[in-house]
Amino acid sequence: VMRESYSSENDSGFKCVNPSLRQIVVVGGAGQLGRLFVNMFRLSGYQVAVLERDDWGQADALLSQAGMVVVAVPIENTCDVIDRLTSLPPDCVLVDLTSIKQRPLSHMLAAHAGPVLGLHPMFGPDVSSLAKQVVVCCHGRDEAAYQWLLDQMRIWGVRLHSVAAADHDNAMSLIQALRHFTSFVYGVHLCDEQADLKRLLALSSPIYRLELAMVGRLFAQDPALYADIILSSPLNVQMIRRYHQRMGQAISFLESGDRQRFIDTFHKVSEFFGDYAGQFLRESKLLLAQAHDARHH
Ligand code: NAD
Repeated sequence: VMRESYSSENDSGFKCVNPSLRQIVVVGGAGQLGRLFVNMFRLSGYQVAVLERDDWGQADALLSQAGMVVVAVPIENTCDVIDRLTSLPPDCVLVDLTSIKQRPLSHMLAAHAGPVLGLHPMFGPDVSSLAKQVVVCCHGRDEAAYQWLLDQMRIWGVRLHSVAAADHDNAMSLIQALRHFTSFVYGVHLCDEQADLKRLLALSSPIYRLELAMVGRLFAQDPALYADIILSSPLNVQMIRRYHQRMGQAISFLESGDRQRFIDTFHKVSEFFGDYAGQFLRESKLLLAQAHDARHH
């Protein structure tokens, strides 16, 4: 299937899994992520309409005919927009692409009695292809009615991963909120220290260059998206607070020169990582070798 979808990508588009679907309406379809999905649906032969901020005057006509509605508006507006979707056709599939899942999913289930699916694409609008990209699925209601959509995304090359909405949001506290926040603070720190980035790069090993790239790339993107991701749940801020406390504890044993405590803690964490520690060492060596090759081509 993967090879077939790659080769058809080079021709006119992708195979259409559900050609009899009525029009797809993407709410927020002119936005960064919405636009990407609009393109993918059109490349797969679907009829797609975009419903933007100022289009709500014509919304009833569009929504009452829709075969699927995809919500791709900013996080802060998502639940308000979903709450307006109360008169969709009963067989219409209601989907959202929000970076958080619990609240949007419960609002979708309340607004619409038909099929409901929560998705979280784990990529941004800058990807060149969806091949091997991960999309998290939180099933809402009547999975059989949107199985075609899951199959369609697989044809795009997407890896689907199903998880409960609460588990998703907890994992995202670590994967997104904490990671983006620590990158943010690292950037703030380099800025306030007036670090000489050019010199740091000249003096750095490839792994530090990668680390700097992981931090620096954040600041080439939309601050509002990251503010919303971090602020999307009070659990995120509580997680960040615990991180801050642990950093404080670690600093205090450095300040008291407690070398043994550092080493003991290190062992405890090594044990926690278990086989992953060695696996991560091998994986990162490979990544660094690839990054090295790429810079010399
Ligand atoms: P964006 O700001 O680029 O796009 C949002 C679009 O929604 C804009 O075109 C805006 O005009 C429109 N909009 C706002 N309010 C509206 C309303 N009331 N009615 C109709 N349209 C409205 O944002 P984005 O980065 O594309 O993010 C959209 C969603 O996708 C968010 O929920 C975000 O969590 C999720 N997401 C984004 C990314 C990413 O990297 N950009 C990744 C994963 C998930």
